[in-house]
Amino acid sequence: MSSRVRDVVVIGGGHNGLVAACYLARSGLDVELVERDTVLGGAVSTVERWPGVRVDRGSSIHVMVRHTGIVEDLDLGSVGLQYDDVEPWAVLPHPDGAIRFSNDLDLTCASIEASCGGEDATAYRRFVNEWTPRMRAFLDAAERPPTPAGLLRFATRSRPGRRGAARLARSYLSPAEAVVEQRFADPRLRAAIAWWAAQSGPPPHAVGTAPMAGTVALFHLRRPGRPKGGSGRLTEALARRLESFGGTVRVGEAATSIDNGPGGLAVHTVDGDRLPARSVVCACHILETARLTADQDLARTVRVGNGIGIAVRLLTDELPHYQVEADGVHRSMQLLVDSTAQLRQAYGDYLRGEPAADPPVIVMTPSESDRTLAPAGRHVVTVWAQWHPYRLRSGSWQGRADEAADAALATVERWAPGFGAAVLERYVQTPAEIERELALPAGNVMHLEPELDQMFGLRPAPGWSAYRSPHPGVYVCGASTHPGGGVWGASGRSVAAVVEHDLHRRGRRT
Ligand SMILES: Cc1cc2nc3c(=O)[nH]c(=O)nc-3n(C[C@H](O)[C@H](O)[C@H](O)COP(=O)(O)OP(=O)(O)OC[C@H]3O[C@@H](n4cnc5c(N)ncnc54)[C@H](O)[C@@H]3O)c2cc1C
Repeated sequence: MSSRVRDVVVIGGGHNGLVAACYLARSGLDVELVERDTVLGGAVSTVERWPGVRVDRGSSIHVMVRHTGIVEDLDLGSVGLQYDDVEPWAVLPHPDGAIRFSNDLDLTCASIEASCGGEDATAYRRFVNEWTPRMRAFLDAAERPPTPAGLLRFATRSRPGRRGAARLARSYLSPAEAVVEQRFADPRLRAAIAWWAAQSGPPPHAVGTAPMAGTVALFHLRRPGRPKGGSGRLTEALARRLESFGGTVRVGEAATSIDNGPGGLAVHTVDGDRLPARSVVCACHILETARLTADQDLARTVRVGNGIGIAVRLLTDELPHYQVEADGVHRSMQLLVDSTAQLRQAYGDYLRGEPAADPPVIVMTPSESDRTLAPAGRHVVTVWAQWHPYRLRSGSWQGRADEAADAALATVERWAPGFGAAVLERYVQTPAEIERELALPAGNVMHLEPELDQMFGLRPAPGWSAYRSPHPGVYVCGASTHPGGGVWGASGRSVAAVVEHDLHRRGRRT
């Protein structure tokens, strides 16, 4: 039993919890972080899945965190984090002509012109130029608590242009699918951008998904990255940095409740320990926060959804060989999608409670450039496929995992004939498995549905946004909060600023 009163206990050692802990400890506060899993990092972690083979458990490609400056600010390079740029960031290796999406807008437009014609190349350049200021405004809004003033600042910085607010609102609220159909003529270009837009979960025909298509502009501002040694190198570096600031980490010790009785605020752990604290930051899923605080209202209010997709992790002795040459294809995210109709069909299967029969996929082949991941002659390949419901209409995920993985691999086989014969091992992460291994309810990799009713000041729920909660001394951050899921770190840094501010104010009063 510990009687020391920490300044802050952080619950959850995902990257957001670790970022929060680092900033709080750097400012001189006494910080302890507890993580239920024996592996630190949550959905930003890498394990030895097969002997000598390092495989990501969740994320692989880091996009947003590279725009935050957190890596540089915490000097994570000096504690072992090294990024490989993902360049080109995506390739559609279509047999009738590949499209190569590079960080360099001119190169991307040249590739689009070669495969789809000059008009689509011009339209893509215009699209990126339109969304660049909006994405800059979005990155800025992501760095601060979501307030009405912040929303106004975001709208102003999005450069509404001559036709003003109504036009801006329309471009944010449109479905991504409508946008690509209005802007581009070639079905390959339409499909590639719509498939990218679907990555956070909602289908591209849903209202309000246009900004997801607009995120292509981000890739022309900065290259995405992949930590050398796997995604988990980011959280390993954060843990090292936290310890260098004097913070402590307990792994394999879940928080079981937060109590704020007469004895003061404290976190109880599964090992029977009681950790008194002046503040508690919940960096876990918001449903877990609801459980820890016994807040039934919160648990009823949030919408987790019904899963998004599956990840099939492979060990192979060959990379996929596509039918068309595209320089750097194996360094990129390989978008294997036929058409926007294929996306609709896969989403239709999902709505019926069935795994997609013909899923679009993204293939990632990190060991092509990072030889620390697998022995010589072997490759680590991830195949991400959508959509796959957590709650199935018939059967269980245990019984249907192979069928869903086979369908995803059939897509790869169609684009890269012969690939199936290269597979030596496979590990299937169904929505149920993602929930079990990573404590992500319903296998939602973004924690909560990223739709308009759960974004900005409404994420995770009214009264819980801006990183404070209705429970005195209890704060929240992570993918369940603004600005949402993905490898980002923004909410971790923001909650640290809020806690520091409140502790300082309380300190002045006492
Ligand atoms: C298969 C998959 C692929 C993905 N691919 C990408 C990608 O390529 N790019 C990208 O940007 N994003 C990707 N994502 C999404 C991204 O990884 C997540 O949205 C993000 O990492 C969430 O981070 P977080 O720190 O907010 O929360 P989490 O990573 O969910 O961390 C929360 C932590 O809290 C811990 N916890 C829970 N309950 C307790 C408790 N009671 N006590 C103590 N600890 C507790 C959990 O174990 C976990 O470690 C992917 C996710 C998955 C699952």
